Amino acid sequence: MTDAIIELTNLHKYYGKLHALRGLNLTVRPGEVFGFLGPNGAGKTTTIRCMLDLIRPNRGTIKIMGFNPQQAPQRVKARVGYLPGDLAMEGDFTPRKFLRHLRKLRKDTRSWEELLELAGRLDLSLDQKIETLSQGNRQKVGLLSCFIGRVPLMMLDEPTLGLDPLMQQEVLNIIREEADQGTTIFFSSHILSEVQKIADRVGIIRQGALVEIAQTDDLINRALTRASVQFAEPVPEDSFGHLANIKILRINDEQRTFTLEIAGEMDGLIKTLAQFPVRDLAIHRPSLEEVFLKYYKDDQGEE
Ligand code: ATP
Repeated sequence: MTDAIIELTNLHKYYGKLHALRGLNLTVRPGEVFGFLGPNGAGKTTTIRCMLDLIRPNRGTIKIMGFNPQQAPQRVKARVGYLPGDLAMEGDFTPRKFLRHLRKLRKDTRSWEELLELAGRLDLSLDQKIETLSQGNRQKVGLLSCFIGRVPLMMLDEPTLGLDPLMQQEVLNIIREEADQGTTIFFSSHILSEVQKIADRVGIIRQGALVEIAQTDDLINRALTRASVQFAEPVPEDSFGHLANIKILRINDEQRTFTLEIAGEMDGLIKTLAQFPVRDLAIHRPSLEEVFLKYYKDDQGEE
C-alpha cells in the first residue's frame, strides 16, 4: 500500500529470550485515528518505540511516511508528535518555557494562543515548575508538546493515563478534533471505552501479534446482538425457524418471552416480530469491551 502513513511488516523484537513482538503486520492510513489495544505487556509500547527508533526490532521493516526510522530517525521524529507512556520530566523550568522553546525548535505555525486555549481546556497552569507538577499534569504538558509543529502524525502511548475521568474525556475530545483537521493519530490504550469513543479503526495486539484489525463499528456490529422480546400472547417456537441468523437462547413465561441471539442484520427478525403483538423489546448491543474480552478469555492472569 503506497499511501500508508505507518507500515509495519513482520516485526519481531526480543528482549533477551522474551519474544515481545512476534511478526507484527500493521498499516495505518493518513487521517485515521487508530486505536492500538491490548492488555499490559502485549507489546504496544515496544511497537511505538520501534517506530521511533528508540529501540530496534530484530527483524522486519518499518516505514513511517515512507521513511525507514533506522536510516532516517530525525526525519521521522520531526514529523511525529510523540507522547511516551512513561513520561519523565525534570528541571527548573515551567511548561510555558518548555513549550515556547519547542515551538522555536519546530518552527511552529500553530499560534501560541491556540496552545494557550488547549492548556486552558486541560486546566493546566503553565507557570508552575515542571518538576513540581503531578504526573497527570506532566502528561498534559507532554500532550501539548505533540501539538507543536503541526506534525502529520501523533503517536500517543496511553494518552489519558493518570487523568481523572472529566479530563480523560477532554483529552479524547481534543484528540478527535485534531484528527478532524487531518492529523493521523496512532494511540495505544488498554481502556476499551476510550478506543470505542474516538478510534476509526482498532488493532488488537495479544502477546506480540495482531489478533484483530477492523473498523471499530464493524468489530462491534460483527459481535452477536441479543434481543429480549415479550409478546402479549404465546408465540410458537418455530416462528423464528426460517431465520438462519437467529438462535433462540431461552423461552419463558409460557412462550411469551423469548431471548434471542442475532448474528448480523435485524431485518428478518423485525419483520417476523411484526406478525405478533409485541409488548416489549430490548436490544443489547455488545460494547467493544465484550468483543475484546473474547480475544483474551483464554489468557490467565492478564487484564
Ligand atoms: P503496558 O500497557 O503494560 O505498557 P505494553 O503492551 O506496552 O504494556 P510492552 O511494554 O511493549 O507492553 O512490553 C511487552 C513485553 O516486553 C512485556 O512482557 C514486557 O515485560 C517486556 N519488556 C518491555 N520492555 C522491556 C525491556 N526493556 N527489557 C525486558 N523486557 C521488556
